[in-house]
Amino acid sequence: MEIFNSMTRRKEEFVPIEPGKVKMYACGPTVYNLIHVGNARPIILFDVFRRYMEYRGYEVTFVQNFTDVDDKIIKRANEEGLTSHQVAEKYIEEYFKDAKALGVRPATIHPKATETMDEIIDLVQTLVEKGYAYPVPSGDVYYRTLKFKGYGKLSHQPIDDLLSGARIDVNDEKENPLDFALWKAAKPGEPYWESPWGNGRPGWHIECSAMNRKYLGRTIDIHCGGEDLQFPHHENEIAQSEAANDAPFAHYWMHNGFLNIDNKKMSKSLGNFFTVRDAAEAYGYEPIRFFMLSAHYRTPLNYSAESLQQAQAALDRLYTAKDNLAFLAQNGAEGEPTEAEQAVLNQADDFRERFDAAMDDDFNTADAVSVLFEVVRAANKAVGPDQKPTKAGAEALLKLVLEFTDVLGLLYGKAEESLDDKVEALIAQRQEARKNKNWAEADRIRDELKAMGITLMDTKQGVQWKKD
Ligand code: AMP
Ligand code: ZN
Repeated sequence: MEIFNSMTRRKEEFVPIEPGKVKMYACGPTVYNLIHVGNARPIILFDVFRRYMEYRGYEVTFVQNFTDVDDKIIKRANEEGLTSHQVAEKYIEEYFKDAKALGVRPATIHPKATETMDEIIDLVQTLVEKGYAYPVPSGDVYYRTLKFKGYGKLSHQPIDDLLSGARIDVNDEKENPLDFALWKAAKPGEPYWESPWGNGRPGWHIECSAMNRKYLGRTIDIHCGGEDLQFPHHENEIAQSEAANDAPFAHYWMHNGFLNIDNKKMSKSLGNFFTVRDAAEAYGYEPIRFFMLSAHYRTPLNYSAESLQQAQAALDRLYTAKDNLAFLAQNGAEGEPTEAEQAVLNQADDFRERFDAAMDDDFNTADAVSVLFEVVRAANKAVGPDQKPTKAGAEALLKLVLEFTDVLGLLYGKAEESLDDKVEALIAQRQEARKNKNWAEADRIRDELKAMGITLMDTKQGVQWKKD
C-alpha cells in the first residue's frame, strides 16, 4: 500500500509501527451545528480508508474526536439559551445520525475534549516544565513556538515566512506572534475547568495531542484531516506532541482536498452552504457517499446538482444489478454455472488485483469504482436476456459484486444493517450506559451481544470485539 504523505510530499510504502495493526487519528468536527457537505468528504473518505485497511487484514484502531468546548459552541449556547454541554451533546447526536445514514461506521473511539481534561492539563504541564510553554499573568498558557525546531515542517513553511506572515497580535502577553494558546483563562459566563494556572479551558489544538497520547500512544501511524488543517492546526499538534513526548508524532499525514459548490468555495455569505441533511433531502444519503468516492481524495471536488444526479444514476445501476442477481440466485436454473457466468467468475482474481492496485495507490477510489462497474457490467451480461442464468452462477456473481461494494461501504441503503454496524451500535450504547453508571443496561447489552456470538474485550485502546 502506498500513501501520499503530506509531510514528505511523496507517495510512500505503508509500513505500520506494529505489524498487522494501524493506529489512525482524524480531527473531527466542532459540534455546534449540523455537519455540512464539505465535512462529509473527510468523514466518508476516512471510513473507506479504514474499511480498505481492514479488508487488507489490518486491525485498525481509529480515533476521531469531537471538539465539544469552543467559542462557536459557547456562542451557539447563548443564542439558543442552552448550556454549551447541551449544544455539544445535541450536535454529537445529530452527527451520528448523519454519519450512520452516510454508511460511516462509528470510530473505535470518539473522545470528547471535555472528557480528556486531565490528560490535556497534564500535557500542558509537561510542556511548561520542559520550557516549551509559559503561563502569563492573565491565566493563559502559550506554546513557545520558536523553541520547537521543526515548526513549519508539515506545511513546508520556513519559520521566517511564518514570522513575517503572522499577524501582529494585540495580545502583548505573548512572547512572539506565532505563539498559540494551550490554555485560556475563563471569561465570565464561560464553562471552565480548574487548572494549575487558574480556571480556564483548553485551546483548540491541545486536545488532539492529548487524545493521541491517551488512546494511541506517543507515535501513531496515520494522522488525517482536511487540507485546511495542515496549518496551523496540525503544525501545532506536532509541536505539542513531539516536544512533550520526545518521539515522532505521526508517520503518515493524509489531507483531503476541499469540496467546492458549483466551483466556488462554500460559504454562508455566498448562499451556497448546504448541510448534509439539505443534500440528503434532495438526493438521498447514499448518492452523497458515492459522489465522494468518484474523485481522488486529494483533488478538489465540485458539488453540483448534476454531479449528485449522476451519482444517483450510477447507484441505481448498482442496485438494479444487485437486485437482479439476488432474484436469479433464488429463481435461476438449477445446476452448474453457465459458461458465460463461469467466464466472469474466472476473472474474479484479476478484478480483485486491479481493485486492490487502485486502492493501494494512495486510495484511488475513483479507479476502484471503475473496476466495480466493470465487474457489474460483466455480471449483467453473463445473466442477460440471451442467457440461461443459474442459481449457483448468479449467487457467486452477487457475492463477487458485494465483495467490492462492502469495501467501499456502498449498497447499504436498502440492505439490512451489517453485523459490524449492529455490533458497533450496541457497543456505543453500552459505553453510554456505563458512562451514566447504568450497569444493569450495560450488562443487558453485553448479554445481547453474547447471544449474537460476540465477545467484548475492554482494553486500554477501548472496547474490542471478536466473533466466537
Ligand atoms: P470544520 O467544520 O471547519 O470544523 O471542519 C471539520 C472537518 O471538515 C475538517 O477536517 C475540515 O478540514 C473539513 N472540511 C471543512 N470544510 C470542508 C470542505 N469544503 N471540503 C472538504 N473538507 C472540509
Ligand atoms: Zn486535530
